[in-house]
Amino acid sequence: MKYFLFLNHPKGQEVYKVSEEREKMARIHFKSVDTLETEVTIRGNIYKAIIDYTAFSNLANFDCFNCQDPCCADNPSIYEDLTRELILDNLKEYDNLTHNLEILLEIGKSPEEIIESIKNDDVMVPDENAEEEISLCTCSFKPNNNSTLCAIHSICLSKGMTAREIVEYKPMVCNLWPIDIIAEDDLSVLYITMPDDFTTGFTIEDYYGIGCINKELCESAIFRRKNPEGFSENDFKPVIVAYGDTIKYSLGEKCYEDIKNNLIAKNLVFNEEFDEREQQILKKIN
Ligand code: SF4
Ligand code: SF4
Repeated sequence: MKYFLFLNHPKGQEVYKVSEEREKMARIHFKSVDTLETEVTIRGNIYKAIIDYTAFSNLANFDCFNCQDPCCADNPSIYEDLTRELILDNLKEYDNLTHNLEILLEIGKSPEEIIESIKNDDVMVPDENAEEEISLCTCSFKPNNNSTLCAIHSICLSKGMTAREIVEYKPMVCNLWPIDIIAEDDLSVLYITMPDDFTTGFTIEDYYGIGCINKELCESAIFRRKNPEGFSENDFKPVIVAYGDTIKYSLGEKCYEDIKNNLIAKNLVFNEEFDEREQQILKKIN
């Protein structure tokens, strides 16, 4: 099996291959929980999907502006052409946010080399400078000395783009993080879940260290020592609500509706919760 969202990772199968032990756990999990079968559409391709849909009623609070977790610490994907074009069309804003051009000029790269790198290098900076001089993910930026945000997302917002357009420009793994998709080797079936108490042995991300999907962690003194503000208890919402548009535009409307309807039928979420949802994907820094 493969971690589907990491198939485009610059480090290749070293990252996306699921170990035998994890594969065994994943198969047992998907046989033992309630699932729904549906179709997902990802970047225009249609896949059969088995969804651990009750995991989408888990509570989440994507309070990225108050977060000190370095979830954008490394480059999770080779950039797609559309993203490269967005950056090239908005070089000034990209550099104001990331300082990447200034850094590369400082270490002796020419303007032509920098443009070529954005066009051709896996992560839009020369390999030898990735995660070294250009620390963390290439497109990450710090609006202050605390949180780390995404320059692609920020440029899309400043251009007034819709949630659907943001999803098109950002790497799919980043749109959906920390939703996990484990695929058969031939991609004939995708198994979709969230990291939680039950899945954490086989999901690629560690549930116990991620505050935005672990309310209990956010309520702990250890977390509060590091994060005195944000992640308020009242702001936690079911993932299907908090990530509604993200799921709709990343996995397709049918997938979103199927998860939502099954959760409502099981009384795990309620229609009223969708009326008051705040679109996390469209939030701007105040
Ligand atoms: S860990 Fe969660 S809240 Fe923090 S920046 Fe990442 S997605 Fe946002
Ligand atoms: S969300 Fe943006 S900054 Fe974060 S890892 Fe993805 S591309 Fe990089």
